[in-house]
Amino acid sequence: ADTSDVIEEDITIPGLPPLLRGHPDVHLRHGVMRAAQLALQHESDAEKAFFVGDLCYVYQQHLRWKKNLPEIEPFFAIKCNPDPYVLRLLAGLGVGFDCASIGEISQIVGLGVDPSRIIFANPCKAASFIKQAARAGVDMMTFDNTDELYKIARLFPSAKLVIRILTDDSKSLCRLGLKFGAPLVTVPGLLAKAKELKLDVVGVSFHVGSGCYDPSAFADAVMRARSVFEMGHEAGYNFTLLDIGGGFEDATFETTASTLRDAIDQYFPNRENIRIIAEPGRYYVAKAFSLATNVIARRAPPTPEGGGSQDMDMESEQPSVMYYINDGVYGAFNCILFDHQTPQPYVLSLNGSFHVPSSVPMRASSVWGPTCDSLDCVCPVTQLPSTLQVGDWLAFDNMGAYSVCAASQFNGFQISNVIYTSGVGYLSGEVRKVLKEFSKGEEGEDED
Ligand code: PLP
Repeated sequence: ADTSDVIEEDITIPGLPPLLRGHPDVHLRHGVMRAAQLALQHESDAEKAFFVGDLCYVYQQHLRWKKNLPEIEPFFAIKCNPDPYVLRLLAGLGVGFDCASIGEISQIVGLGVDPSRIIFANPCKAASFIKQAARAGVDMMTFDNTDELYKIARLFPSAKLVIRILTDDSKSLCRLGLKFGAPLVTVPGLLAKAKELKLDVVGVSFHVGSGCYDPSAFADAVMRARSVFEMGHEAGYNFTLLDIGGGFEDATFETTASTLRDAIDQYFPNRENIRIIAEPGRYYVAKAFSLATNVIARRAPPTPEGGGSQDMDMESEQPSVMYYINDGVYGAFNCILFDHQTPQPYVLSLNGSFHVPSSVPMRASSVWGPTCDSLDCVCPVTQLPSTLQVGDWLAFDNMGAYSVCAASQFNGFQISNVIYTSGVGYLSGEVRKVLKEFSKGEEGEDED
């Protein structure tokens, strides 16, 4: 197949890989396949795992947000995927940023984003970070405890504080309430202390937990936030900010948005003077990135005599072959350990051919990462073609959230690179326009 359309460079920004023009096959899977084909043409890259990042998808998610939650300003949670193109695109689209550290703040400020578009949304900050935030002009920050108030009073007394409250996150994939959020009973005491320290508390934030599939958790949290607005009033504050956090899931986004709109109407009917922001992370990027991996080795599972499989659950189908790929849980697949994900592979190439027949004999297989640790298992059991061999490619979708950002180089393996595409059609042109506009002065000379 012709791959020239995939390699056509579109924008060149110094220090960043080229942005590739999309292919009429809109589906990201084709982008992954074509990039893998391309990799095979270059001997040195022939077995490196890589992401394909579709910036058009990120843009689409932004339009979807604006359509469903027009009143709520998104502040992208950079921790989820601090990819330089994603950040540039979102910055160019006017999105704000939720930063958890000075490193993240520096990255965003370094892009030329105004500090007023950043919330330092970590309720437990190092003193030095508070000082540096003050220097950078990032004054909006969260807190949920008294010590934080003392630190801020000493180091950044003019900060605009947002009290992070505890909400019900019991149904979310990652529970954040185990670590952050002031229980409502503690709020009056915290606000009284803030008042005593002459601090400016401007509003309320919450996070219903990352990966929240239960829209009612958002409604319940908005109700709690309303009662904290009342507590603020009693403490002598006039709150003007509601931060509804992250947790948005692609599959339930429209339902969640509708529930949220209703809850906001119910609990904040008069909100002319209230700014509402959110901190979505995975919503923007999870589906925008796929990962292509190369099968680097294959072997039979340990025999019972070896002691390996004796304890296994004999009711489930046992893998009869183990495949080793060149990214694992110490790399991009850390999302298995840290983010409760269960990535499933699909076949990109079989026996050296990218034309994989739609039906081939399958067998139970397991998929492992490249390190020497047995914890490095990507998929304990899955169905893969019985003829899959070393050198073939497997790919994984939905790899854009909490994956590459937490990858390590354990055992000396490199972190997988990203091949960027701008997708196709009208929006593809828009992606390029926004990036060009935002990166003015940095582009290469091959621009039109
Ligand atoms: N805001 C804060 C304070 C977070 O801790 C997180 C995730 O950990 C997010 C936003 C992003 O959450 P999500 O990716 O679920 O939207």
